[in-house]
Amino acid sequence: MAKKKKSKVRMSSKRKNKAHKSRKVRRERPQKINTKRLLALDEAVKYITDLSGEKGLEIFRYLIDHGTMEENTLAKKMKFKKANAIRKFLYKLYNKTLVSYIRKKKGSKAWYTYYWSANPDRLMFLLKKEYEDEIAQAKKSIELNKANDFYICNSCNRRYDLNSALENDFRCYNCGAPLSHMDLSEIVEDKDSRIRFLKEKIDALSRLVK
Ligand SMILES: [Zn+2]
Repeated sequence: MAKKKKSKVRMSSKRKNKAHKSRKVRRERPQKINTKRLLALDEAVKYITDLSGEKGLEIFRYLIDHGTMEENTLAKKMKFKKANAIRKFLYKLYNKTLVSYIRKKKGSKAWYTYYWSANPDRLMFLLKKEYEDEIAQAKKSIELNKANDFYICNSCNRRYDLNSALENDFRCYNCGAPLSHMDLSEIVEDKDSRIRFLKEKIDALSRLVK
């Protein structure tokens, strides 16, 4: 009887914890960003241009400078002859949530009018994510290199792990030349310095938040 009571108490305290945790979840709020400095970064320009071309970059910049804008007005400002020609560029940006839209019905007309705006905080997020992914990969490669011994054939440059080197008496399967132990410290150092470089990039991005 006493046991039963105890377990009941434990359960209810668990539930309490859960409720406490879910209250703690923060909603993502758009950040105030120094967009001038963000768009002065080569990597920001490259990201947008690779995604949507020079014209896409021009549209993105214009929306950042001028705020939400009606699609036809935007098309005119961007010197598109046909208003819907701008959509190709907007959709490319929209696919990465770099721009978003709201649509409204104007008066009694049957069609919708689209209003577009740019999301510079999303650009920050995407750039940071690129850096973070590369850092994770570099870390993995460092661990792999540290955990394994590698051997190399100096005449044909083939690389072997310890097991395959052992199997063939430390001779190259391809040409028979003796294998030598690879010094991986340089590779590890290169990766380490790349990680430091990327971390600085992430810090620089974080400083753009006002
Ligand atoms: Zn060889």
